[in-house]
Amino acid sequence: MTAFDWEDAFCLESQLEPDERIVRDAARAFAQERLLPCVNEDFGDDYSDPALFREMGEHGLLGIVMPEAFGCAGASYVAYGLVAREIERIDTGYRSMMNVQSSLVMYPILRYGSPEQRKRYLPALARGELIGCFGLTEPGSGSDAGAMETRAVNIDGGYRLVGQKTWISNAPIADLFLVWARSEAHGGAIRGFIIEKGARGLSTKKIRNKLSIRTSINGEIHLDDVVVGRDAILPTALGLRAPLDCVNRARYEISWGVMGAAESCYAAARQFGLDRRQFGRPLAATQLYQKKLADMATEIGLGLQASLRVGRLIDAHEYSPEMISIIKRNNVGKALVIARKARDMLGGNGISAGFDVIRHMNNLEAVSTYDGTDDIHTLILGRAITGISAF
Ligand code: FAD
Repeated sequence: MTAFDWEDAFCLESQLEPDERIVRDAARAFAQERLLPCVNEDFGDDYSDPALFREMGEHGLLGIVMPEAFGCAGASYVAYGLVAREIERIDTGYRSMMNVQSSLVMYPILRYGSPEQRKRYLPALARGELIGCFGLTEPGSGSDAGAMETRAVNIDGGYRLVGQKTWISNAPIADLFLVWARSEAHGGAIRGFIIEKGARGLSTKKIRNKLSIRTSINGEIHLDDVVVGRDAILPTALGLRAPLDCVNRARYEISWGVMGAAESCYAAARQFGLDRRQFGRPLAATQLYQKKLADMATEIGLGLQASLRVGRLIDAHEYSPEMISIIKRNNVGKALVIARKARDMLGGNGISAGFDVIRHMNNLEAVSTYDGTDDIHTLILGRAITGISAF
């Protein structure tokens, strides 16, 4: 028998390796000491601080699962998830910055890039000296990424890129643009291209008036006859499968991150219920309040166990993408319910920035959409269960 820990329902702590705890503790210290003090100001100002990339790099948080040869930690996917949980405990936007750099820029270069591309870009991305972005979504193609219209035309010595991307995280502050386009030279197959900032014809525009994930910047990318050399193409990324493989890494990380946001809301609701007295007793002494906390503890405990399991399977190379769809869809959905519930449990205080929950709630609305909407993950699972594609 062991005493029940309200913060760790299924003793996750005892299932971690010592080096995973060290990584997690370092991320927690960075999140609490560096990010927590500025989060409400950054969110209020709709400000994504580019300097954070270098600081994350100094703390070894970028590309944490990548090999040490590129200046990374070579940590496990479980450690990667634990880091995401600590960063998103503060705010989804900071986790998004890290997630895009690690899973959507560094991973594709490692997995599909040439030795020269890896050497040229990975160490600088790991240090946060370069900021990367991943351009898949277009104004006319979101969930249906295969319908993209951006084209790469074959020219002497390279390619000419024409098209537009939108909603791209980090884009307005990026140094490196990993853009996906249909390549005429490869029978119209989707290929990945690395474009460096400053290329002629490349421009970005910040997306304004977001009311969600405001600490992470989003933008449009305009490709007006951008010419790149043959060495800009990711040599082994062929077809939609490649960007979706990268997105799957991001989805795994999201499943952990949102649990951090949910834990923040759960802890806030618990503390508020203990402190706040109505009808002559603490709110936490009422059965309704306790039921809501019990539901939160249950979903957080189960969600973390599922992410841990999938992380161990990724580390053992024994996972399937559908497993990641389950944990992304489940954990984001449950975190959103928890955030909305916590917002309600705090009464009027629930809409105050000082209690964090409404910021998490707003953020989680967008997390439910990006990296595969809840519906799309439902359809991925439906296809795997029935053998029939409904989309
Ligand atoms: P749509 O695909 O138009 O979907 C609209 C609605 O229709 C959704 O509810 C969806 O579930 C539903 N739907 C779609 N198809 C079906 C179907 N067959 N059956 C039933 N329902 C369906 N993209 C990038 O490439 N890089 C980034 O860095 C990036 N960062 C982002 C950051 C943020 C904050 C946000 C909000 C988005 C980001 N995106 C990025 C884009 C994101 O991936 C897309 O928003 C997402 O894929 C959904 O596409 P969409 O917004 O066009 O919605």
